[in-house]
Amino acid sequence: MSDKFDVIVIGGGPGGYAAAIRCAQLGLNTACIEKRINKQGKPALGGTCLNVGCIPSKALLDSSWKFYEAKNKLADHGVVVNTPKMDIAQMQKRKDEVVLQLTGGIGALFQANKVTWLQGSGKLLSGKQVEFTPNEKGDAQTLQAEHVILAAGSVPIEISVAPLKDDLVVDSTGALEFTSVPKRLGVIGAGVIGLELGSVWARLGAEVVVLEAVDTFLPVVDTQISKETLKVLKKQGLDIRLGARVTGSDVKGKKVTVSYEDGSGEQSEVFDRLIVAVGRRPMTGELLSQDAGVSLDERNFIYVDSQCRTDAPGVYAIGDLVRGPALAHKALEEGVMVAEVIAGEHTQVNYDTIASVIYTHPEVAWVGKTEDEVKASGEAYKTGVVPFAANGRALAAGDAEGMVKFVVDEKTDRILGMHVVGPQASELVQQGVIAMEFGSTIEDLQLMVFSHPALSETVHEAALATDYRAIHVAQRRRKK
Ligand code: FAD
Ligand code: NAD
Repeated sequence: MSDKFDVIVIGGGPGGYAAAIRCAQLGLNTACIEKRINKQGKPALGGTCLNVGCIPSKALLDSSWKFYEAKNKLADHGVVVNTPKMDIAQMQKRKDEVVLQLTGGIGALFQANKVTWLQGSGKLLSGKQVEFTPNEKGDAQTLQAEHVILAAGSVPIEISVAPLKDDLVVDSTGALEFTSVPKRLGVIGAGVIGLELGSVWARLGAEVVVLEAVDTFLPVVDTQISKETLKVLKKQGLDIRLGARVTGSDVKGKKVTVSYEDGSGEQSEVFDRLIVAVGRRPMTGELLSQDAGVSLDERNFIYVDSQCRTDAPGVYAIGDLVRGPALAHKALEEGVMVAEVIAGEHTQVNYDTIASVIYTHPEVAWVGKTEDEVKASGEAYKTGVVPFAANGRALAAGDAEGMVKFVVDEKTDRILGMHVVGPQASELVQQGVIAMEFGSTIEDLQLMVFSHPALSETVHEAALATDYRAIHVAQRRRKK
């Protein structure tokens, strides 16, 4: 094996693999170092996202929703099924197959693009040198690159009040592997992971209690949308307790007792399983030597500029290692940007139009600013909100909870934010992404013809509603 490359990427998740493939497309001799061994004991690309994140969680969300529908919703359509049963082993097998198909696909793409996959750990030394330690037996080797891209991702935060314990107290990775439905499931953290994985097991019959330290539900989400989301999730049976700070946990036999403080004082609950989902931290620990020359910020993220350059010349960092939302698509686009910057092109990720999605049912999705953020900035703005209850397609499908909301600059008519809770929100929000990316005004959306019947009509109606022009909802003018 050569010890010199144009580019060495450390980490083969969405950030790292996309960077490596794009570098290779641009004619750069590229290696990607990835140390992950999957649950089948084989080296695997795809990072957190494909192996233990986005993909397996969505596979379980889809399976559990189908079960929930069969049990609670199909009868409304006149579809009569005998009491449905859940085969958890089959659900997990299918999830594992999806993961293997996708992670194997990245390996095939590496081969097709002639990216060298080095199976082991990478550590950044000084002067764009990288120490590579193979997973298999063999000595560490020092490699040299013209450019290094750090893409080592993140790992779950552990908290001393709830240390992980076998399959009883688990992080998100453990929560993807339950072999039976716990009778009572505790979740610490009502963030994205807590709500998604809490939903999976609640749909399958677990009694789920989510303990959230903060008083506000989903504080990053537009208040109107988060209120609706909380209402719908509670109706589905998720017992979400806000202002509940976990202070300790105790495992005895097969039960976990969790103590927490809320407005009324000390409380405790006994669970069969506990998921700890309190955030993730960047994987900088073994990645950097003392003299690597890379600076960290106050939260231990690698410090980078807007094009992901670190303080070490020729060294870039992307994805969950750096500032910004910890999202796969953000990591991927940073990987592509850095590859193109290295190749001398002028590329810039537009951080203002990165959408976020929570894959509950209904889904929650948003891009841009919330109404509260715009209000706080003092800019004059207008909003348009339309419920899916006014949408023929949503009603026909029996899936009409939620709403679409636009926040628009009153003076320029530019879209500042789009917020959705409702069916297919993850897909609908892309319409806002495209509109905002093109700098379109809300009038542009108002003037477009949307197919009928389609969920997208609620996007159109919400755009019209910003100017009191919605046809299918009665609007009262806001007092100025
Ligand atoms: P990672 O995907 O974490 O990849 C980094 C890779 O680097 C890892 O495979 C690691 O083994 C490897 N590595 C680390 N250190 C070294 C080293 N020194 N040498 C060699 N290799 C190393 N995001 C979304 O956008 N949508 C979702 O639906 C979504 N769902 C999620 C669900 C769960 C349960 C979790 C945990 C996360 C989810 N995320 C989701 C977040 C998403 O997974 C991350 O934002 C994304 O994976 C970050 O990509 P990355 O390339 O920066 O890092
Ligand atoms: P998060 O930051 O979304 O939520 C963690 C929650 O835990 C917060 O609300 C926090 O207040 C709460 N918390 C912290 N300490 C607590 C304590 N002691 N007691 C009670 N509550 C406590 O983090 P997460 O849900 O672990 O997800 C991590 C990251 O993974 C997210 O930032 C997200 O970017 C990414 N992710 C994305 C998706 C998606 O895009 N659909 C899905 C899963 C994960």
